[in-house]
Amino acid sequence: MLQQLDGAPQNLAWLTQCHSADVRSASIGACGKGDGLWTQQPGLALSLVTADCVPIVCGGERAVAAIHAGWRGLVAGVIRATLAELPTPASELDAWLGPAIGPCCYEVDEDVAALVADATEAPIADIATIDDAGRPHIDLHRAAECQLRSLGVERIHRIDVCTRCNADLLWSYRGSPGANGRNLTFAWLSG
Ligand SMILES: [Zn+2]
Repeated sequence: MLQQLDGAPQNLAWLTQCHSADVRSASIGACGKGDGLWTQQPGLALSLVTADCVPIVCGGERAVAAIHAGWRGLVAGVIRATLAELPTPASELDAWLGPAIGPCCYEVDEDVAALVADATEAPIADIATIDDAGRPHIDLHRAAECQLRSLGVERIHRIDVCTRCNADLLWSYRGSPGANGRNLTFAWLSG
């Protein structure tokens, strides 16, 4: 039984996440397909489900947003699209980046690394490490932070915990083959 806490959200909003740059204004319950969700309504909790992608919360005094950002979302521009909807200037936002698969565990094809680098307007070396076999390992946190900074967000807080390295604590798509558990992120404006 959960204890009711002062300021705890009364309602929940969620998306059918699809690795897109589609953004929805939140209402109670299902909000359709998309990967960016935002609200100005106090007490309405935005929710995300992730396994290796980055859950991002951007909040200011008047609005909060939740963003699902894997490599496809980063390439599609989901961060830019979501911030464009917010009434709060990017410079007045704080951003929190939750646990995601780390570069230690995220080997990708070279063309994927190139797409993420292009979308981030950064050299591949800035958003990926190269292993001994010459294969890129994307740093999703780093790419998301670069994109947020280029959009004007200055206060960025990263929880640099790798989902795959911490499979005893967190769900990882790559680390838990056949399992379908997801990590949950909630964000809301207090009333
Ligand atoms: Zn790892």
